[in-house]
Amino acid sequence: MVRNRVYKTDAVVLKQMPLGETNRIITFYTREYGKIAAIARGVRRPGSKFGGSLEILNHVEAAFGRGRSLDSVNECVVINSYKYLRQNLTAIAQGIYIAELVDIFGEDRSANIRLFEILSETLSNLDRYENSEFWVLWFEFRLLHFSGFLPEFIDCVECRSPLDRSDHTFNPVAGGILCPLCADSDVNDQSWVVSVTGLTVLRYFQRSLELTLGQADADISVVDLLDVKTFLRIYMRYIAERDFKSTGFLDLIKFKNN
Ligand SMILES: [Zn+2]
Repeated sequence: MVRNRVYKTDAVVLKQMPLGETNRIITFYTREYGKIAAIARGVRRPGSKFGGSLEILNHVEAAFGRGRSLDSVNECVVINSYKYLRQNLTAIAQGIYIAELVDIFGEDRSANIRLFEILSETLSNLDRYENSEFWVLWFEFRLLHFSGFLPEFIDCVECRSPLDRSDHTFNPVAGGILCPLCADSDVNDQSWVVSVTGLTVLRYFQRSLELTLGQADADISVVDLLDVKTFLRIYMRYIAERDFKSTGFLDLIKFKNN
């Protein structure tokens, strides 16, 4: 691999923390290199060359210089600061929640272009469209899909028979929904029931994976989101306990479920 001394990429600012008197460590999710933490020197000085370009959630084009331990941010130009999102406290909280999920699911210096795309697309959706809750759930669903954790919602995960329109048992160990016959012999004490309204939205999401959704799609589902939200948060907690030992992730999911 060629390791250029300087490299440039599209990125979203996920988080920042102070370092010394005038610097910050900025965590980015980049299109080409996955997650990167880098020092922005002098960013806390008045009149810093970075201005407001390193605000959390900004979509930027940034140039980095390789360092011995941490790389540094050389330049940063804002592509989109999501002006309308920033006027809405709920949307800001939702944007930060999404950034935190990407910080946990995204790997250091390992590109996942689909993850970058759903992150920047969701911030645009929160900026442009109504019904922000829908965009957060659509993001979570695709995050599970692109991370390889998405369960089966169309057919019974055990016997493959098609499922009728009713409430069904979800078995997280088997990785999907059970038909009534298979549910009768299910002895997994971690299974739970997903309502027909929740399943309708989950299947709609599953069928839409290759599509770009817009405001009209969000409007259709506006009434039915509580059940799908509950499902996604319980399922993500299950994955967190199995695959992410981070208690920060558990706290995040618990907090955002309230
Ligand atoms: Zn079955």
